[in-house]
Amino acid sequence: MIQGWSRQLPPARSRPADTDVEVLRRQGRIVVVGASLAGLRAAETLREQGFTGSLTMIGDEPYEPYDRPPLSKQALLGRARPEDTALPRRRHIDAEWRLGVAAESLDRGAKQVRLTNGDTVPYDRLLIATGTRARPWFHPEEAALGGVFVLRTRDDSARLRRKLTGGVSRVLVIGAGFTGSEVASACRELGLQVTVAERGPALAGALGGVIGAVADRLQRKHGVDLRCGVSVTALEGDDVGRLRRAHLSDGPAIDVEVAVVSLGALRNTEWLAGSGVAAGPQGVACDAGCRVFDVNGIVTDDIYAAGDVARSPHPLFDYQFLALEHWGNAVEQAEIAAHNMICAGPDRRPHLWLPMFWSTQFGVDIKSVGVPSLGDQLVVAQGTLAEERFVTVYGYRGRVIAAAAFDGAKWMGFYEHQIASGAPFPPEYRTVDRRTETLQPIDPAFPNPHLPTHGPTVTLTGHSPSERRVSFVPAHA
Ligand SMILES: Cc1cc2nc3c(=O)[nH]c(=O)nc-3n(C[C@H](O)[C@H](O)[C@H](O)COP(=O)(O)OP(=O)(O)OC[C@H]3O[C@@H](n4cnc5c(N)ncnc54)[C@H](O)[C@@H]3O)c2cc1C
Repeated sequence: MIQGWSRQLPPARSRPADTDVEVLRRQGRIVVVGASLAGLRAAETLREQGFTGSLTMIGDEPYEPYDRPPLSKQALLGRARPEDTALPRRRHIDAEWRLGVAAESLDRGAKQVRLTNGDTVPYDRLLIATGTRARPWFHPEEAALGGVFVLRTRDDSARLRRKLTGGVSRVLVIGAGFTGSEVASACRELGLQVTVAERGPALAGALGGVIGAVADRLQRKHGVDLRCGVSVTALEGDDVGRLRRAHLSDGPAIDVEVAVVSLGALRNTEWLAGSGVAAGPQGVACDAGCRVFDVNGIVTDDIYAAGDVARSPHPLFDYQFLALEHWGNAVEQAEIAAHNMICAGPDRRPHLWLPMFWSTQFGVDIKSVGVPSLGDQLVVAQGTLAEERFVTVYGYRGRVIAAAAFDGAKWMGFYEHQIASGAPFPPEYRTVDRRTETLQPIDPAFPNPHLPTHGPTVTLTGHSPSERRVSFVPAHA
């Protein structure tokens, strides 16, 4: 079991005589850049844990924090309006909100953030929570055609929903990762024809080709025209700039009015260029306590990072830097970062969150724990792939490293414990629904990480703050 493993933050300390350092850390100016899930939960934790100083929330979107997972699910189906996705508040945070304006640069010497409107915002401690954005279509002119969409924000979701319900007949989804597959699923529920173009099997980047084959079957069963091993080579518009046709690598062009580009995400780190912070395409490198590294590998004590933009070493995964695009991680890392920002050294906590992700598509609840993409072997521990109802367990050097379930979410807590305790792989237990034909470990068939993919939502980025194991070579899907 990992040392210090616990989901609970300790309560704010109320020792009779706080040291000067502790008192000071609960005062001063904290600036949070990125006013979304991680930023909000960090701010709430700061106040909850006794921070009495000034708090400034900077966000480039014009909205107060909202929830993204419904944007590719309920919102596309009209079961929730994108404007009704505001995140519930745990408490009042008494902050100054600077919304609709982006942070443009960071001056660590002067301890200030410069905004795109020319303002500067001074800080004593800074939290970087700028998350990710959708990777755009590789050809800017084609990306600008009417009918070409990405899906990351509330506005993206509202626009796409309007288009999908405005009388279109055929939709092209480029990339069959989680978001692309959820969009395809919503399109089918809306009764639209949908073609999905994907280089490998669906979901293969996140869960491997074995489960990808099941996801492929599921999509086809629900009427998706799934084209695997296929690249979209060009998008073609008409005279007035509306999408009309998509060219595919495997044959004739297809007529489409809508293309949803679902090629994964890019981390919002450009504004940190030249600041001396260890930030780049793989994220902002921080230690297990969320303190950001500088480019020399020295940890800062006034700059922290949390959420999708952060990458930090995890003891369960050989202390490799993990970059996660998971809702639950953003919450937990934000809480840890906030706690550590205002307490003295001995009370700091490591961020040991065990990755956990969910998705709902084609009527199936998919859930994973751990890091499947680190797995070198896989067994089907419960159910069968053929029935599309199962739990698979991933092994790495003889221990359980991850599990993924189709309609088996209730078991994930058990596997979480297996992963955290370093249980041997293949699993030794018997379960009622374990079938003999699946007992043999097999290769999970992950695609080559050096190939551009639709973007797994977990990336192992090596051991050093500056190392990049997986690099994206710009190319079309
Ligand atoms: C469509 C969709 C579906 C999803 N579904 C699931 C799911 O089913 N399960 C799951 O676990 N996760 C899911 N996720 C992922 C989850 O929503 C993210 O992990 C989570 O939003 C991360 O929160 P964050 O605060 O770190 O980053 P973000 O939510 O990306 O927020 C970062 C904020 O910072 C802002 N920003 C960026 N740069 C600047 C700047 N320079 N200055 C000021 N502000 C800036 C951004 O505009 C954004 O508002 C989904 C995401 C999307 C988009």
